[in-house]
Amino acid sequence: MNLRIAGLGLLFLALGACATQPAPVIVYGPPVDYGPPGDERNPPQGAFQPNAFLRQCLGLGVSNSPPVDGEHWVVDFKPVIVVGQVVLVTAPVNDVCLASGFGPRNGRPHDGIDLTSNPPGTVYSAAPGRVIEARWSSGYGNQVLIDHGRGVYTRYAHLDTIDPAVQLGAAIGYGLPVGQMGATGNAEGPHLHFEILMGNYDNPQASKGLAPQDPFSFPAYDNLGY
Ligand SMILES: [Zn+2]
Repeated sequence: MNLRIAGLGLLFLALGACATQPAPVIVYGPPVDYGPPGDERNPPQGAFQPNAFLRQCLGLGVSNSPPVDGEHWVVDFKPVIVVGQVVLVTAPVNDVCLASGFGPRNGRPHDGIDLTSNPPGTVYSAAPGRVIEARWSSGYGNQVLIDHGRGVYTRYAHLDTIDPAVQLGAAIGYGLPVGQMGATGNAEGPHLHFEILMGNYDNPQASKGLAPQDPFSFPAYDNLGY
């Protein structure tokens, strides 16, 4: 259940109980108005330091892979990217390999990238934002969706567990634990399915109305320009 549905339920309860009192309104909350790193508008930030490089998983057929060099490192990997006006981490879990890229796979769209490690690692928020989903979802298993504002969202799926500090509707800083990599939902083994989505969540299909983006398609963050 998300906040909107909870709000509707309260609205109906209120209307049924007393038609003259104003219905309670749950304010969904604007996206976090964050600034550059260190800006006082930011929620407290975590210590996550993204790896500078990403390698294909060896011994696996990596579908939809971006170009790699002779040792399977992703060529021109950009650990920090700019999506719209939002600065994001491309791989929000460390010491992982790329198991699958973005795009059609076995006749179905693959709306994110798959990252895995052994043992499974801690998954972190890719940018400051607001938690708008933190729940089980069919296919995705335990999943968290963060609204980063400016029409940019990230999803973290197949989590073994969602971090107890992740609160629906609450602000979350960059680099804070979202959960533990796992294999919940439709997953053959532990991995993070990570999506970058653009659009407006406030549509009839909610997250399904957002447009998945290829994380490898965005320019690198250049802090000289911001
Ligand atoms: Zn996936």
